Amino acid sequence: MKISGVEIQVVQGDITRQEDMAVIVNAANSSLRGGGGVDGAIHRAAGPELKKESSALAPIGPGQAVITGAYRLPNQYVIHCVGPVYGVHKPEDELLASCYRNALRLAEKQQLDSIAFPAISTGVYGYPMQEAAQVMFKTIIEVIAELKHIKKIRIVLFDRPAYELHRQALEACQAE
Ligand code: ADP
Repeated sequence: MKISGVEIQVVQGDITRQEDMAVIVNAANSSLRGGGGVDGAIHRAAGPELKKESSALAPIGPGQAVITGAYRLPNQYVIHCVGPVYGVHKPEDELLASCYRNALRLAEKQQLDSIAFPAISTGVYGYPMQEAAQVMFKTIIEVIAELKHIKKIRIVLFDRPAYELHRQALEACQAE
């Protein structure tokens, strides 16, 4: 789907296998030292040098984002965002929106043309996926008018139900 000249894609897959994307986004924790879920997969695929660079930038709070190299990943950069823990960091919708907004602005500042996101906070951090997807697409659509370099935004969902849910959420946003 294209909005203001930017292609928004929803795909099922692994965020560490997005060879054609300039930058991938990590759903990190504030220590930026790696962890489970997406974070673990990204650090494993990137190799130990990633942790060296990212942990030196820690700690960052919920809603914040930093950018590092991608090392052994097939991308140029990794943007590390810390999502809100649902029910703990409030207001969670604004903190989640900040993740997407800050990541897009960092990528834009680096003049990158493509960025891939996982569904931040929807794993261990417990954000209900439907609500999180609405915040994600609303924020992306709000920020899109600012973007000059980014031409492709890809949302990468690990499993089929998450993929279906996000496809429908994007269509619903578009219909509004
Ligand atoms: P958080 O701590 O922000 O909740 P998680 O990594 O626990 O982050 O989960 C975020 C989402 O990423 C979940 O929906 C999970 O299913 C999904 N996920 C886990 N591994 C991958 C991967 N390799 N690629 C894409 N998405 C993934």
